Amino acid sequence: MKRFLSLIAAALLLTSCGVLSNLNSERLLQGGVYAIQALTLSDEQVEAYVSQYIAQLDAQSKVLPESSPYTKRLRKLTANLDGVNEKPLNFKVYQQDEVNAFACADGSVRVYTGIMDAMTDNELLGVIGHEMGHVALHHTRKQMQKSMLTSAALQGIASAGDKIAALTDSQLGALGEVILNAKFSRDMETEADDYGYNYLCEAGKNPWSMVQSFEKLQKLSSGTAAQASAVSNLFSSHPDTQSRIEHISQRCLQDGYKRPTK
Ligand SMILES: [Zn+2]
Repeated sequence: MKRFLSLIAAALLLTSCGVLSNLNSERLLQGGVYAIQALTLSDEQVEAYVSQYIAQLDAQSKVLPESSPYTKRLRKLTANLDGVNEKPLNFKVYQQDEVNAFACADGSVRVYTGIMDAMTDNELLGVIGHEMGHVALHHTRKQMQKSMLTSAALQGIASAGDKIAALTDSQLGALGEVILNAKFSRDMETEADDYGYNYLCEAGKNPWSMVQSFEKLQKLSSGTAAQASAVSNLFSSHPDTQSRIEHISQRCLQDGYKRPTK
């Protein structure tokens, strides 16, 4: 609030001095308000907005029932995984051919049948571990804050302040872009890998699964045109696969983990 008030004071001062006389001071103030609100966006607000988006996406997607072999396989694989940031995880399988999976700030993890068909249990676990990292390390929140500064639709979210607004369709669409097409920095990707590694070790899983998942992504991306296309979103948002393989392999070897055969 202090920063907010001093920003307004500074803007008023500059305007009254005539320095910014040719700028629209109202717009400047409004922009400042959005910037402050974006930067002070809390985890609770992000979670509440993300939950609204996931509820819509679940309703629009073909969510496989508990009786499905896919859902049963995912439940078994993730049974011992703890939540992140004190949020319990909730897993669902979407019937969709794309090789993709994503995790959200509210603990929702969505896994497509395409990635379940393409990957072994270990490989799948590696992808989930990495995605957990993005959530636990607040990458989703940072991404949303950044988008709120540039997206007109998301600036509307900022105007709700501390209150949680019901999102409009265009806001849900813009939020979906942030969640589904998030491009994180190279540092964030490395941090998510390291988090995923520790997370899997703590859950009693073999962290070689992460290396195996990177190798599978690499293999699919250079496979048939259909394979490359199915994996393109996940692969293109995760550059430097080779150095990620080397980094995590190094950690596995140092910690004495034996590479599983499949
Ligand atoms: Zn990532």
